[in-house]
This record gives sequence, structure tokens and C-alpha cells, in this order.
Amino acid sequence: MSDATAKKEERRKFQAIRGTRDLLPPETALWNRVEQTSHEVFSTFGYGEIRLPIFEQTELFARSIGIDTDVVSKEMYSWVEGWEDANFAIFREWSMKRDPESAQVLRFMGPLRASKPREKRDLGPLSQNTYMTLDGVETIARFKYRVALMDVLELQDAGMAYQQQGKAMPQLLLVTVPGTIPEGMESFAAKANVTLEKIHIDDFEPPQLLALRPEATASVCRAYIEHNMQQLPQPVKLYYTGPMFRRERPQKGRYRQFYQIGAEILGGTDAPAIDAEVIEMLMTFFDKVGLQGATLYINSIGHNAENCRRGYVAKLKSALEKVKDKLGPDSQRRIDTNPLRVLDSKLESEQPIIAKLPHIADHLCDECKTHYAAVKRQLELRGVLYQENWRLVRGLDYYMRTTFEITAPGLGSQNAVCGGGRYDGLVELLGGPPTKGIGFAIGEDRLILSLQESGKAKLAQGRDVYIAWMGERAYATAIRAAKDLRKAGFSVELPPAEQKFGKALGQADKLGAKYALILGDNEVSEALWTLKTLADGTQQKLTEPDLLQFLRNQKRVSS
Ligand code: ATP
Ligand code: MG
Repeated sequence: MSDATAKKEERRKFQAIRGTRDLLPPETALWNRVEQTSHEVFSTFGYGEIRLPIFEQTELFARSIGIDTDVVSKEMYSWVEGWEDANFAIFREWSMKRDPESAQVLRFMGPLRASKPREKRDLGPLSQNTYMTLDGVETIARFKYRVALMDVLELQDAGMAYQQQGKAMPQLLLVTVPGTIPEGMESFAAKANVTLEKIHIDDFEPPQLLALRPEATASVCRAYIEHNMQQLPQPVKLYYTGPMFRRERPQKGRYRQFYQIGAEILGGTDAPAIDAEVIEMLMTFFDKVGLQGATLYINSIGHNAENCRRGYVAKLKSALEKVKDKLGPDSQRRIDTNPLRVLDSKLESEQPIIAKLPHIADHLCDECKTHYAAVKRQLELRGVLYQENWRLVRGLDYYMRTTFEITAPGLGSQNAVCGGGRYDGLVELLGGPPTKGIGFAIGEDRLILSLQESGKAKLAQGRDVYIAWMGERAYATAIRAAKDLRKAGFSVELPPAEQKFGKALGQADKLGAKYALILGDNEVSEALWTLKTLADGTQQKLTEPDLLQFLRNQKRVSS
């Protein structure tokens, strides 16, 4: 490496990963205010906070969100944990059985290096071919959790490569734990002359497929089941805040790490009042944080039965088939995979076509129709304004009846700040008892953007008081003053070193301080402190208690 490159390497700058970002002051004060408001409002509705892990088993999300959604199929950050540990455990157990004395089997990596034994820790991945001599017989082996047909084929190939070098066909060995062997594997291996050895391991820890959470509803349901919350008074009302992760194309209002504030009501009944109250709480929250121009859309998607949604979906499907060649590729695909999702389409050219499709409201069963009417009446009783949007759907079977979405201005096409709905089948799907459920998730990033766009985001002010001090004696007083003012709730800047008053006042200005408290020898000996109001430059002399009282009064007036 040349000196210049080395220097460049050294100076390498790190940046936040695409789609993630730092939230900085003063903006974080707004985030805090929003979250604080959620704590306050939600607790007045009887909700308790749940704090959840940020990663879970991939399977939990795959099941709850659905394998054929974008979120699960393309956007999840998932990884395997403990794969090589599991493979190594299989190898270790196997070699102990072979050679309990030393628990060592000589292993080699790769035919070209076959003469060079390696250290155990340096063996390379065990799921790859391992070359060894077993009781004098050349052997190619794999030690693997969850073997696949591919392993058999690759072992066979490696054996043949041996033969091509003029050597005898080695022994081929595939070692795994019982219970993970796919159907047809045994006979497939036998035909290929691969010995499939199953060994049992006590306390075997299988590798896990884990994922960063793309949303939190599944985790809340998992926790409800895991902690037997169905034994608590029902319904259980929980809310959460925190980051979610989806590998989407980053743009305004769409990030790969974003934040949600959400709530779920689990258990009890599906009384329409519950749906209405969740929505009332949401609108109260949006009102309290100062979101302007929010629009609430509601719909009912019925339930998963022939006389209700399934019947509608069949009609929708045949209507879509008739206009198939006028639809874009995504919608064409969805006719088969998930026809309801076609209604979600934002493609301009499809809008007139979608407008003519059958409406679900005309196909709801009597119970769902009654439920929907009651939700609307309950919203009216609560003074919640709504608009109906028959195209508001959720593509998953366990979603039912009420769905809702809230949009806000200033966000371009990413204008949904909240989505929610009823999901009575979800807890059961995740292995719990039949449980009613409804919830929502607010996109906090978008909410903040909308607040900022509307100028409603009063940024946190600078300091209340900047203490300009000069001289040792004044410094002692300044420290005491800072302590007392902070105790009284004022934000105070106490410079760590003496500055000329002019410089100190300039600094106070830059920090956006409201007042400068000037403490010099005179002030200390007279016990009269100088307080300068920075906005208009006026000055007054006050005793310590008067000063505190004055600031308190000012604060009361301004808040
Ligand atoms: P969209 O249609 O905008 O992609 P979604 O249907 O994927 O939203 P939900 O899974 O219902 O969204 O999540 C609820 C809310 O979370 C959305 O209304 C939105 O405000 C927010 N949200 C979803 N994905 C992102 C993201 N990648 N970045 C920022 N906020 C997001
Ligand atoms: Mg999305």
C-alpha cells in the first residue's frame, strides 16, 4: 500500500447506512414531545406500555404478515444464527463416537491440500466438503444441520473429481441430526452411495432464523400468548414505541429504519365501541400533538367466509380477469395472489378501471354490515369525523371488519401516517387461544415531517438563562445560581471559563438564550444580580429571590 493510499484509508469517513439516519437536537425535542404525548394520551385510555425485543424469529413475522407480502418476501433483515455452531456440534459428537480417546479426527480441507492437516479451529465451514482419512479409508464428509439433496450431489461430484485424479472412489459421508431430514433423502443418498449418518445430540441447539422486526403487532401477540395475558382482565390494552426495519427504497417519508408508535387491544369482545374508541384515542393523540389536516378513512372488509369477503373476492377476481390486459404487471399478478391488493394500487392508469370494480360494502354478511354501521354510529357519538374509503383493504386472511388509515398533509405520496385494523384470527394463528384483536401503527417519522411542514413544530428554545460571570468570587455564586435555577426547572448554561462580558453576551445570543444573568464583583458584593433580557436588551437589578420569582412568572406567561 502506498503512503498516500494508507493515509486515505486512515481518513476514511463513515456514514450512516442508506435508509437510516441520525435524529439530532433540536429535532429530537420534537420526537420527545410526540412520544411524551402518546404516553399521556394512551394512559388516559387505560393502555400500558409494552417494551419488546427488536429481533424475533423470522417465522413469527412470516406467519403474521404473510409470506407473499413485500415486507416478508423482500424487505426483511434476517439472518441465521448459530449455523456453524450447530454443524460443529454435529462434527464433535460424531468424532467423539468414532474416537472417544482423543475426540480428534484428522480433517483436511480440499483435495489439493490433503497432505496438510489443520488445526481444529481453522477447519473452515463444516457444511462444505471435508476431506479426511477414516481408518485408512479416504473419506469426503459433510457435517450439517438440515441436509439437502444438494449436499448429496456435491459430495458425489467431489468423489468423482477424486476419481479423475486416478484415485479410488472415496467413501462419501453425510452426517446430521435426526428430525430434519427431508422426505426422499434416505433413498436418494443410498442411490448416490452416500452414507447418511444420523446422530443424536443431547441439548442440541438448532440454528435459528432471526429477523429485525418490520412491525410490532406480531411481537405483541407473541408476548400476549407467552405471558398468558388471556388470564388478565380482558381486553388487554398495550402500546409501544420504537424502531422498525424494512429494506425498502429510501425516499422522503420512507426509511429502512423508521419509528412507529402503536397500540393493540387483545381479548374481550369485538364490540364496535372498541373499534371506535381506538380511533377516538388516535384522533385525540393527533389533535394533542398539533397535527393539522389529518383525514381519517375507514372501511369494513368483512370476514373470511363464503357469504362475506370470500364471496366478494371471487366477484372481484372475475371482474379483474375481464380487464386484465388494461392493468399493470403488479396488478395482473395480484389477480391470482391477492386480488384485494389491486385496490391498493396507486398507478394512475389503473384508477378509472378500479373505480368501476364491485364494492365490498355490497357484499358484507349481515353481522359484518351491522358491526360496520355500529362502528360509524359510535364514531359519530364520539364526535370523530371520518370518510369512508371502500378501497382501504388489508391483504391477509385474519384481518377482518374495521380497517382504517389516517393521512396528513405535506408528505407527498407517502401521506399515510397511520394504519390499523381488526385482526381477530391473529393470536390463534400464532398458537394462542381464539382472541379478538384490533390495533394501529403510527409512522412517527412521517408524523414529525408533517408537523414540521405545517410549521407546528415549535423547536425547543435555546437556554433560558446564560450566566455571564467574571472573577473567582462571582464564579462561586454563579455555580450556586446555576444549581438553584436548574432545580427550579430552568435550562441554564454556565460557561466553564471566565469570559469578557461582551463575549459572554455574544455567546448567549448564539445559543438562543432568553436571559443573561450577569455576575461580577459588584453584583456579588451588593447582592443585587443583573438580569438582561436578550430580546430587547433591557436590564434590571434584582435580589436573588426576586430574580427567581421574576423568571418563574415569565415562564408561566410564556407557556
Ligand atoms: P405504506 O403504504 O406507506 O408503505 P404500509 O402499509 O407499509 O405503509 P404499515 O405497515 O401499515 O404501513 O405501517 C403503519 C405506518 O408506518 C404507515 O402508515 C407509515 O406511516 C409508517 N411506515 C411504514 N413503512 C415505513 C417506512 N419505510 N418509513 C417510514 N414510515 C413507514
Ligand atoms: Mg409499505
